[in-house]
Amino acid sequence: MIDYNIIDCHFHPAFDSETDINWFASTGSIEHQINILRKAGISQACGAPVKNMNPISFKEISKLNEFSLALRDSHPDFYIPAIQIHPRFPDESCREIERYCGSHEVRWIGELVGYMMGYGAEYATNDALTIFRTALKYNAVVNFHCNELDIIEKLSKAIPDLKLVLAHPGAGKDDFLARIALVAKYPNLHLDISGSGIDRLGMVRKAIDVAGMNKIIFGTDYPVNNPAVYTHGTLLEDLTHEERTAVFSTNFLHLIQR
Ligand SMILES: [Zn+2]
Repeated sequence: MIDYNIIDCHFHPAFDSETDINWFASTGSIEHQINILRKAGISQACGAPVKNMNPISFKEISKLNEFSLALRDSHPDFYIPAIQIHPRFPDESCREIERYCGSHEVRWIGELVGYMMGYGAEYATNDALTIFRTALKYNAVVNFHCNELDIIEKLSKAIPDLKLVLAHPGAGKDDFLARIALVAKYPNLHLDISGSGIDRLGMVRKAIDVAGMNKIIFGTDYPVNNPAVYTHGTLLEDLTHEERTAVFSTNFLHLIQR
């Protein structure tokens, strides 16, 4: 048995064929998805749906957010809602944050996946920064997918009070070390261990040694990735009980506090 409360910060709930991003098979109903995460030892999960798009209106993004809220209402004990914004629609994105993070108390934005949703790496453009300044007003957390170190750095510097979670440790050793160095450098920047993951033994230990135990957040990227890889991988790392608890849940809970 896994003796930890484990919260997955990086889930992409699938509600139709377009939001189902598993490579091989249909992911199944939302009940099935929650069952799979529970089987992997996860007690709660957060994150917004994603889909490949090149939107001509904000409606397509709103649809993802409406699903997120409905899922929160149908599975309040498991799902922690998150929304998508889109830097090509700055006004609509700001209104969406005001509505969801204001009236509905949503605390998490993302994972933002620009390469899938038609805005590449536009995380630090003037329009993106306008949106993220609105997120800051509600003390919301922004989880984003970005492979470009200069853009990660520009965003972290531009709004130093904005709570940021960089998705994925990176694909190779040099990439991982460069990303974790940025997480260490910017107090507002955190790292989630989802996706490209922690498959090289000692990665979580190293990340904590470089950036500190409060900077590393548990995430899976299910249904693309197998969630058990991340729970068991984290359990097998050479961490103290306190460090493991921080990664599995308390860092996340601290971030989403108002
Ligand atoms: Zn993802």
